[in-house]
Amino acid sequence: MGPIDRTEIVDLLSALVRIPSVNPRMGGGSGEEPLARFVADLLRAMGVSPAVTEVEPGRPNVVATARGKPGAGHLLFEAHLDTVSPSLGQTDPFVPRLEGDRLCGRGACDTKGSMAAMMLAFASALGCAERDLTVSVAFLMGEEIGHEGARHLATTGFRADGAVIGEPTDLDVIVAHKGVVRWRMTTVGRSAHSATPQDGVNAIGMMARLVRGLETQLAPRLDARRHPLLGSPTLSVGRIAGGREVNVVPDQCTIDVDRRLLPGESWASVRAEIETVVSAVASETPDFSATIEPPYQENGAMETAEDSPIVRRAIAAVRRVDGQHHIRGVSYSTDATWLSAVGIPCVVLGPGRIEQAHTGAEYVDISQVVTAAATYREMMLGR
Ligand SMILES: [Zn+2]
Repeated sequence: MGPIDRTEIVDLLSALVRIPSVNPRMGGGSGEEPLARFVADLLRAMGVSPAVTEVEPGRPNVVATARGKPGAGHLLFEAHLDTVSPSLGQTDPFVPRLEGDRLCGRGACDTKGSMAAMMLAFASALGCAERDLTVSVAFLMGEEIGHEGARHLATTGFRADGAVIGEPTDLDVIVAHKGVVRWRMTTVGRSAHSATPQDGVNAIGMMARLVRGLETQLAPRLDARRHPLLGSPTLSVGRIAGGREVNVVPDQCTIDVDRRLLPGESWASVRAEIETVVSAVASETPDFSATIEPPYQENGAMETAEDSPIVRRAIAAVRRVDGQHHIRGVSYSTDATWLSAVGIPCVVLGPGRIEQAHTGAEYVDISQVVTAAATYREMMLGR
């Protein structure tokens, strides 16, 4: 079974699930503070002094560092504190249940399984004389919406030579993920009585042309752009609102757009492409007027070279513990977005599968959490 005991994993993971840490920006979320306090106490009990930093009132990051030999290098292990809300009809989401090898409950997979594995690996590595590396663990707030905790850590000067981001990857080594930018666009028309629509300019009609333009002119260009691990960038219009009354020609219509980014893409490049479509639609549509608002969310993509030290370390550890390894890219974004943006090479690696996250039947396989803990421990010991 290796150096980390299954019973310890079950006990710690159960304790983590029992403390609700729903992101307060989601329905009914009570926030990360009680869980942050719990993990900070655990770290103190191990003899390290965690820094507990409030990123927003009542929403702290917890970071602890165990110094190694000078010049030996510094690895960070990060997992987020927050979870999504319980699903509709999910009974007792914060009561951990063991079903065979599965531990069920909100957050078990995303991402308290990674957190438990990192915590116990850290505890084990602390007492190990052969550890030369400086090892930090960071348990951060606000991942599910906005990645505020990781942004705070990265922009307040924290640096390491490499980072492992704990998310459900089925223990595959993720070396690239897409970014995301979200923004709002509005068409502006002129209202009139619906009995004389020719006196007005219909903003909904204009928006229909614009959405059609995005689908027919832009989507094929995105499809043609391919990354070997991530495939093509995507665009999705997720929300539309317009008009006031059925008998009034609408003077305004708004859409919310979600655009998934490949490495190298940014809001500037995305906006330029959108403007091209707006100009093309405007040239064919009398009185056409559309505005593009600045993005309300923007997280860059992440990509780490497959021959970089952090990837090589991760592969070696997974192979040693599990006998095989897989390298992949994923479409969702993680806290790695901010750490890699300040030059910390990242991999995403953790127990559980993303399909098990965010559902009413969330669970993680205990055996995989045990394997993850052994893998993290190998990396912490520099093996
Ligand atoms: Zn997560």
